[in-house]
Amino acid sequence: EYYLDNIAQRNAELNVFLEVWADEARQQALAVDEKIANGTAGKLAGMVIGLKDVLAYQGHSLQSSSRILDGFKSLFTGTAVQRLLAEDAIFIGRQNCDEFAMGGSNENSAFGPVRNAQDTSRVPGGSSGGSAVAVQADMCLASIGSDTGGSVRQPAAFCGVIGLKPTYSRISRYGLVAFASSFDQIGPITHSIEDAARLLEVMAGADGYDSTASEQPVPAYSELLTPAAQYRIGYVANAIDRPGLQPEVHEALENTLHTLRGHGHVVEAVEFPLLEEMIPTYYILTTAEASSNLSRFDGVKYGYRAPDATDLESLYKKTRAQGFGPEVQRRIMLGTFVLSASYYDAYYTKAQRVRRLIKEKTDELLRQYDFLVLPTTPTTAFKLGEKQDPVSMYLADIFTVQASLAGVPAISIPAGQDAEGLPIGLQILSGAFREADLLAFANTLT
Ligand code: GLN
Repeated sequence: EYYLDNIAQRNAELNVFLEVWADEARQQALAVDEKIANGTAGKLAGMVIGLKDVLAYQGHSLQSSSRILDGFKSLFTGTAVQRLLAEDAIFIGRQNCDEFAMGGSNENSAFGPVRNAQDTSRVPGGSSGGSAVAVQADMCLASIGSDTGGSVRQPAAFCGVIGLKPTYSRISRYGLVAFASSFDQIGPITHSIEDAARLLEVMAGADGYDSTASEQPVPAYSELLTPAAQYRIGYVANAIDRPGLQPEVHEALENTLHTLRGHGHVVEAVEFPLLEEMIPTYYILTTAEASSNLSRFDGVKYGYRAPDATDLESLYKKTRAQGFGPEVQRRIMLGTFVLSASYYDAYYTKAQRVRRLIKEKTDELLRQYDFLVLPTTPTTAFKLGEKQDPVSMYLADIFTVQASLAGVPAISIPAGQDAEGLPIGLQILSGAFREADLLAFANTLT
């Protein structure tokens, strides 16, 4: 009732929940109460959770905040969501996001922008903006988002909460609407590291419905939050010296490094030579994958169908022209272009090679150091409408795409605020499948 009250008070203004499952949540809560009374409650009993509008939950609307999925209801429940339910989580509603998770400000939703709860003239970040604001404004205890190139970490940073992107393949993608399949990961947005750990351990693990989901055993992350006495930490020096980095973000990072040295950790500067290649590589590969993944939305199988089509060809064209918003259309066109016969080698193949180099270099650094530390974002939350040019929006992803290109886990944690009181996020990367260490270390900084 506490969360439902908060939603009732602020949802109209913030535009976070596309749907609130009030009655269902109350029924789930009553059932959980009974289980608690008779001692059979699961690990997440009582945790009130919101779901980003890219996660399949049987019988519930699923739209990826797009017109093209108007009226679509999911026929099945995805693996991660099923595992949360099995541990007695309570689902409170479906959260607004950038259309098909494409964006970094949550201004690309067919349902209108989400607003940052701390300053409603500012964006919450994206694409999981609704999910981050829901936690920021206490409309649920935790949210489940998705992160392809920063969509859990960046909004978490803009909203002063915690966002975790696990190792690629740690959590099954079955039931997650595909954007760029070799990057997409489900991830929790929470107030505490312990909650993130708990949600990760419930959602992670092998899955017969997703052959790419890792078979590595899942540690009890929430019981492994005791850090080692000394870590080796690298900070990406050329990320800090970049023009365009807000001075207060730089300072917040310096302060953290100072604290870490004070705690006896080894803190050293590292250079990342491929920093400027990351954005082009990410946007070539993800748009290529998206153009393929989104070809299924043809007006025949799902959701919206253009009413004025005259034959199959015009049905496809009109449905897609009317159903997809401008950013999604831009990416489908870009992705189709880089995959086209005459440009494939120049763009797609080349970007695959650069991705490999970025991955090898990142893995190498993460063998030399336990963690890499860098800002989550170059600036704090910007104003709605401020970034009109898509390229300037893409460039703001500079610090989050590395972990996605390399497939390694990364977490954003709050690290102070700027002169206007807006939250600053700090990002920590670890080697693949080292989430237990990552969470234990992050816990010392929150
Ligand atoms: N801002 C990035 C993009 O628009 C990240 C999106 C995401 O992680 N889903 O591609």
